[in-house]
Parts: sequence; structure tokens; C-alpha cells
Amino acid sequence: SKDTEDDNDPGRVRVAVRLRPKNAEDLLSDADFTDCIELQPELKRLKLQKNNWTSESYKFDEVFTETASQKRVYEVVAKPVVESVLHGYNGTIMAYGQTGTGKTYTLGRLGKKDSSERGIMVRALEDIMDNISLASDSVEVSYLQLYMESIQDLLAPEKSSMLINEDPRTGEVSLPGASMVKVQDLPQFLELLQIGEANRHASNTKLNTESSRSHAILMVSVRRSIHGKMEDETISERNEERDLPMVRKSKLLIVDLAGSERLDKSGSEGHLLEEAKFINLSLTSLGKCINALAENSPHIPTRDSKLTRLLRDSFGGSARTSLIITIGPSARHYAETSGTIMFGQRAM
Ligand code: ADP
Ligand code: MG
Repeated sequence: SKDTEDDNDPGRVRVAVRLRPKNAEDLLSDADFTDCIELQPELKRLKLQKNNWTSESYKFDEVFTETASQKRVYEVVAKPVVESVLHGYNGTIMAYGQTGTGKTYTLGRLGKKDSSERGIMVRALEDIMDNISLASDSVEVSYLQLYMESIQDLLAPEKSSMLINEDPRTGEVSLPGASMVKVQDLPQFLELLQIGEANRHASNTKLNTESSRSHAILMVSVRRSIHGKMEDETISERNEERDLPMVRKSKLLIVDLAGSERLDKSGSEGHLLEEAKFINLSLTSLGKCINALAENSPHIPTRDSKLTRLLRDSFGGSARTSLIITIGPSARHYAETSGTIMFGQRAM
């Protein structure tokens, strides 16, 4: 279904919420710990129950129950962004939520045994590959980890502390040091994701941290040769005049954010304290940018963290952005769940 209001405002962040099915911990239904979430998907509403007397209701662009399929989540959350990238605009899809609520399941699941389990990264690449011609177009991917304000290359782990470059003329953000691997087909892309995951695991073991403490960023760069037939008239006219192939570049970022749980700074020392500060820095700064976008502020404060500097040309303006917030059902995690919901609400 086409929403004309949405089409007139590509820079608006669209926010969906996804509820994870109950896990073993949730099923240990201690009398004191019941569910705190009630979904009304037809109204796109979520009710958060604080206690027997207090509940709040929140509206989102979409509400996914625990039975929502990976396919449907892709179609609603990611496909519009992918289509816009195929038309030459940048875009971002991110997942925000407490560790264990389904961010990686939603974005990064490979679904090697059962393709219906595939997450957004795999489906997005499949969609892009199906809609371009490798004879004239190209797709390249970089896969990065951002940990404590340092960027590591998950496809070439010896590269770390890469610097972000911003073209002063075009505003284009790039990472000149990062490997960009040309994607030939889906099996090869699945292999790249797997290599990235293995490197992420190895690097986190070495750094003695959890992968939930870092952000994982898949950067997909699409280059399309434009011929006279493209719908963008200004470009095709120039193209015909000069009879030269024109190249249109766009970029899709898929960001599996660090766990949103507040780390206890009071009890942390040394490395853990530094880690807590840095995670809070990039997520807080992302939150500020998202709020500024929601308020149509002319100034989006992207300079404060590496994460938001990387996102700078891929959200707001002509770029399309989808945020999926992931939550669990149990009242045990009421505080974190409430924090996640508020983060999502502030983006709208
Ligand atoms: P996160 O990345 O937010 O820490 P994960 O994606 O690793 O969380 O999910 C935690 C666990 O819950 C995993 O075992 C995952 O397979 C499972 N899970 C998460 N979301 C779903 C879902 N929608 N359906 C089935 N299992 C899920
Ligand atoms: Mg994860």
C-alpha cells in the first residue's frame, strides 16, 4: 500500500516494534513476573503495563507480534528502504533493543538450513541482486564493527582504527581503508557474512568483551549505469547529450546496534567503565540525532560519535530510514523495555 504522506517526507524515521517470542527464562513464570506487553497490531499500538493500575499505550508505524514472519518484517521495514536505494538514494535500517530481544535474529540471521528464517541483510542483498544487472551495475559490501569509538574491518580483521572520510563538496561519507568486496551472487554473500561473524567472535574474545557491546554495520554500495531509459530526467538528458554512461551511486547501511541495556557504571571499573561510557556515548548521540530529525531541526548533531558520523549521509534529508526496536514480553525487564519503547517513540 502506498502512503503519499510518507513519500513526501523520505527523511522521516519510520519506527516498527517487534516482540520476541517467550524464551525459557520468560516461561519460568514466577508469579511476580508476568507479561508487561500487550499488542494491538491492527491499531499499530502497544500497551505497556507498569503494574496492576498503570499502563501506557504507544503508537508505532508498525507493530509485529511474536508470530510475525521474517518475510513480513522484511517487506514492511526494509523493502521500502531497499527500493529507494535502487533508485539512487541512501538509506539506513537499524535495530535497537536490549541484548537477547532479537536484533541479530531480525537483521543478521543467515537461514542456511531454512531460507524462511533469513533476516534483513540476506533478503536485502537478494532483492538488490535481483533488481540490477551485473553486466552494467555493481554491488560491493563492507562489514564493520564499531567498538569503543574504534572501527574494525570484519572482512579483514588486521585493519582497525580506520578513519571516516567526508567529502567536503558532496558530503559523501566513506571509509577509504575498509575492504569493499564485490558481490557476485547470494551464496558468496552468505559466506562473507559468515566470515564477518567469525572475525567478530575472534576479535571480541581477544578484546575480552561481548559482541552485544559493539555495533555491527553492513555497508552496501550500489553503482548503477544510467541509460536514457531511467526515469530521472535531468540525468538522462545530460546522458544523451554527451553520450557517456553515467554512474549513479547509493548506499544502504544495516546496523545491528549494541545492546541498549544501561550498563551499571557505578559498579564498573577500568576497562568496563570505559566500555560503558563509550556505548552510552554512541547510542545517546544516535538518540539525539533521531530526536533532531523527528523535530525537523535544521541541525542534526552527527559529529559527536563515530556511529553518527558514519550515518551522516544515510539518514535524514533524501535518505530513507527504518528503525526496528526489539523487546521481550516479560515484566522482569520492564525498565529496559520501557527505555527501548521511549527511544522508539522519540524518533517519531
Ligand atoms: P540480540 O541480537 O538482540 O541480542 P538475538 O537476535 O541474538 O538477540 O536473539 C536472542 C535469542 O532469541 C536467539 O536465540 C534468537 O534466535 C531468539 N529470537 C529472537 N527473536 C526471535 C523471533 N522473532 N523468533 C524466534 N526466535 C527469536
Ligand atoms: Mg545480537
